[in-house]
Amino acid sequence: MDLTSYAELAVLLVNLGDECGNSATVRKLLEETGRTEAAARLTRRDVDALCELRDELAEVFQSASGGDEDDVVERLNGLLVRHPVHPQISGHDGQAWHLHLTEGGRVADTLAVGSVMGLASVVTGLGVDRLGTCQAAPCRNAYLDTSSNRSRRYCSERCASRANVAAYRARRRAPESA
Ligand SMILES: [Zn+2]
Ligand SMILES: [Zn+2]
Repeated sequence: MDLTSYAELAVLLVNLGDECGNSATVRKLLEETGRTEAAARLTRRDVDALCELRDELAEVFQSASGGDEDDVVERLNGLLVRHPVHPQISGHDGQAWHLHLTEGGRVADTLAVGSVMGLASVVTGLGVDRLGTCQAAPCRNAYLDTSSNRSRRYCSERCASRANVAAYRARRRAPESA
Protein backbone atom coordinates (compact mmCIF):
# COMPACT_ATOMS: atom_id res chain seq x y z
CA MET A 1 0.00 0.00 0.00
CA ASP A 2 1.62 3.21 -1.19
CA LEU A 3 -0.59 6.16 -0.24
CA THR A 4 1.47 8.67 -2.20
CA SER A 5 0.96 6.74 -5.40
CA TYR A 6 -2.77 6.68 -4.61
CA ALA A 7 -2.75 10.45 -4.10
CA GLU A 8 -1.06 10.70 -7.51
CA LEU A 9 -3.81 8.49 -8.91
CA ALA A 10 -6.39 10.98 -7.57
CA VAL A 11 -4.58 13.73 -9.49
CA LEU A 12 -4.52 11.65 -12.68
CA LEU A 13 -8.24 10.87 -12.33
CA VAL A 14 -9.12 14.56 -11.88
CA ASN A 15 -7.02 15.49 -14.89
CA LEU A 16 -8.89 13.05 -17.14
CA GLY A 17 -11.59 15.72 -17.24
CA ASP A 18 -14.29 14.83 -19.77
CA GLU A 19 -12.20 11.85 -20.89
CA CYS A 20 -13.09 10.03 -17.66
CA GLY A 21 -16.13 8.50 -19.39
CA ASN A 22 -13.91 6.82 -21.97
CA SER A 23 -13.24 3.21 -20.88
CA ALA A 24 -10.14 2.88 -23.07
CA THR A 25 -8.61 6.03 -21.57
CA VAL A 26 -9.27 4.90 -18.01
CA ARG A 27 -7.88 1.42 -18.76
CA LYS A 28 -4.73 2.98 -20.24
CA LEU A 29 -4.25 5.17 -17.16
CA LEU A 30 -4.49 2.09 -14.92
CA GLU A 31 -2.04 0.13 -17.07
CA GLU A 32 0.43 3.00 -17.18
CA THR A 33 0.40 3.28 -13.38
CA GLY A 34 1.06 -0.45 -12.96
CA ARG A 35 -2.51 -1.39 -12.04
CA THR A 36 -2.79 -4.10 -14.68
CA GLU A 37 -5.12 -6.34 -12.69
CA ALA A 38 -7.57 -3.46 -12.14
CA ALA A 39 -7.28 -2.52 -15.82
CA ALA A 40 -8.21 -6.07 -16.85
CA ARG A 41 -11.27 -6.17 -14.56
CA LEU A 42 -12.55 -2.66 -15.38
CA THR A 43 -16.25 -2.58 -16.35
CA ARG A 44 -18.57 0.12 -17.69
CA ARG A 45 -20.07 0.46 -14.19
CA ASP A 46 -16.60 1.05 -12.76
CA VAL A 47 -15.92 3.77 -15.32
CA ASP A 48 -19.21 5.52 -14.49
CA ALA A 49 -18.49 5.32 -10.75
CA LEU A 50 -14.94 6.62 -11.27
CA CYS A 51 -16.33 9.55 -13.27
CA GLU A 52 -18.55 10.54 -10.35
CA LEU A 53 -15.60 10.22 -8.01
CA ARG A 54 -13.51 12.28 -10.43
CA ASP A 55 -15.92 15.21 -10.15
CA GLU A 56 -15.88 15.02 -6.35
CA LEU A 57 -12.09 14.86 -6.22
CA ALA A 58 -11.92 17.87 -8.56
CA GLU A 59 -14.02 19.82 -6.03
CA VAL A 60 -11.54 18.89 -3.30
CA PHE A 61 -8.65 20.32 -5.34
CA GLN A 62 -10.66 23.46 -6.22
CA SER A 63 -11.37 24.12 -2.55
CA ALA A 64 -7.76 23.49 -1.59
CA SER A 65 -6.61 25.83 -4.34
CA GLY A 66 -8.97 28.52 -2.98
CA GLY A 67 -7.54 28.04 0.51
CA ASP A 68 -10.82 26.74 1.96
CA GLU A 69 -9.35 24.13 4.31
CA ASP A 70 -12.60 23.44 6.17
CA ASP A 71 -14.35 22.62 2.91
CA VAL A 72 -11.52 20.29 1.85
CA VAL A 73 -11.73 18.42 5.14
CA GLU A 74 -15.53 18.24 5.02
CA ARG A 75 -15.49 16.86 1.47
CA LEU A 76 -12.77 14.30 2.25
CA ASN A 77 -14.58 13.19 5.41
CA GLY A 78 -17.75 12.70 3.37
CA LEU A 79 -15.81 10.61 0.84
CA LEU A 80 -14.18 8.56 3.63
CA VAL A 81 -17.63 7.65 4.96
CA ARG A 82 -18.84 6.58 1.52
CA HIS A 83 -15.63 4.68 0.66
CA PRO A 84 -14.71 2.88 3.89
CA VAL A 85 -11.40 1.09 4.32
CA HIS A 86 -11.51 -2.70 4.84
CA PRO A 87 -7.83 -3.44 5.39
CA GLN A 88 -6.40 -6.90 4.77
CA ILE A 89 -2.84 -8.20 5.02
CA SER A 90 -1.76 -9.66 1.71
CA GLY A 91 1.36 -11.44 0.46
CA HIS A 92 0.47 -12.20 -3.15
CA ASP A 93 3.03 -12.79 -5.91
CA GLY A 94 5.79 -13.58 -3.45
CA GLN A 95 5.75 -10.04 -2.02
CA ALA A 96 6.40 -9.26 1.64
CA TRP A 97 3.30 -8.95 3.82
CA HIS A 98 1.64 -5.62 3.08
CA LEU A 99 -1.69 -3.95 3.65
CA HIS A 100 -4.42 -3.74 1.07
CA LEU A 101 -6.94 -1.00 1.86
CA THR A 102 -9.87 -3.00 0.59
CA GLU A 103 -10.28 -6.47 -0.89
CA GLY A 104 -12.52 -8.29 -3.28
CA GLY A 105 -14.76 -5.38 -4.23
CA ARG A 106 -15.31 -3.78 -7.58
CA VAL A 107 -12.39 -2.03 -9.23
CA ALA A 108 -14.00 1.37 -8.76
CA ASP A 109 -14.39 0.77 -5.00
CA THR A 110 -10.74 -0.19 -4.57
CA LEU A 111 -9.54 2.82 -6.53
CA ALA A 112 -11.94 5.16 -4.71
CA VAL A 113 -10.79 3.96 -1.29
CA GLY A 114 -7.15 4.35 -2.35
CA SER A 115 -7.57 7.81 -3.88
CA VAL A 116 -9.49 9.20 -0.92
CA MET A 117 -7.09 7.68 1.63
CA GLY A 118 -4.16 8.97 -0.40
CA LEU A 119 -5.49 12.54 -0.34
CA ALA A 120 -6.45 12.24 3.35
CA SER A 121 -2.90 11.17 4.14
CA VAL A 122 -1.38 14.09 2.17
CA VAL A 123 -3.69 16.58 3.88
CA THR A 124 -2.98 15.26 7.39
CA GLY A 125 0.70 14.50 6.88
CA LEU A 126 1.82 17.43 4.73
CA GLY A 127 -1.00 19.99 4.70
CA VAL A 128 -4.04 21.06 2.66
CA ASP A 129 -1.86 23.53 0.72
CA ARG A 130 -0.14 20.55 -0.94
CA LEU A 131 -3.22 20.15 -3.15
CA GLY A 132 -3.64 22.72 -5.90
CA THR A 133 -5.02 23.52 -9.33
CA CYS A 134 -2.96 24.87 -12.20
CA GLN A 135 -2.70 28.67 -12.33
CA ALA A 136 -2.06 28.77 -16.10
CA ALA A 137 -5.58 29.52 -17.30
CA PRO A 138 -7.53 28.01 -18.96
CA CYS A 139 -5.88 24.85 -17.55
CA ARG A 140 -7.57 23.70 -14.36
CA ASN A 141 -5.57 20.50 -13.86
CA ALA A 142 -4.91 19.30 -10.35
CA TYR A 143 -1.43 18.75 -8.89
CA LEU A 144 0.28 17.61 -5.70
CA ASP A 145 2.92 20.04 -4.48
CA THR A 146 5.80 17.97 -3.16
CA SER A 147 8.36 20.79 -3.47
CA SER A 148 10.26 21.58 -0.28
CA ASN A 149 9.25 25.26 -0.30
CA ARG A 150 5.62 24.71 -1.39
CA SER A 151 6.14 26.86 -4.45
CA ARG A 152 4.34 24.84 -7.10
CA ARG A 153 1.66 26.67 -9.12
CA TYR A 154 1.34 24.71 -12.35
CA CYS A 155 0.33 21.17 -13.28
CA SER A 156 3.24 20.64 -15.67
CA GLU A 157 6.42 22.10 -17.14
CA ARG A 158 4.40 22.88 -20.25
CA CYS A 159 1.91 25.04 -18.32
CA ALA A 160 4.73 26.72 -16.35
CA SER A 161 6.54 27.82 -19.51
CA ARG A 162 3.25 28.88 -21.14
CA ALA A 163 2.53 31.08 -18.09
CA ASN A 164 6.07 32.51 -18.18
CA VAL A 165 5.76 33.45 -21.85
CA ALA A 166 2.37 35.07 -21.20
CA ALA A 167 3.78 37.07 -18.27
CA TYR A 168 6.77 38.18 -20.38
CA ARG A 169 4.49 39.36 -23.21
CA ALA A 170 2.24 41.19 -20.74
CA ARG A 171 5.28 43.04 -19.34
CA ARG A 172 6.41 44.06 -22.84
CA ARG A 173 2.94 45.33 -23.71
CA ALA A 174 2.67 47.33 -20.49
CA PRO A 175 3.44 51.05 -20.87
CA GLU A 176 6.76 52.25 -19.41
CA SER A 177 6.32 53.35 -15.86
CA ALA A 178 7.84 56.75 -15.13
ZN1 LIG B 1 -0.65 -6.00 -2.94
ZN1 LIG C 1 -1.81 23.22 -16.32
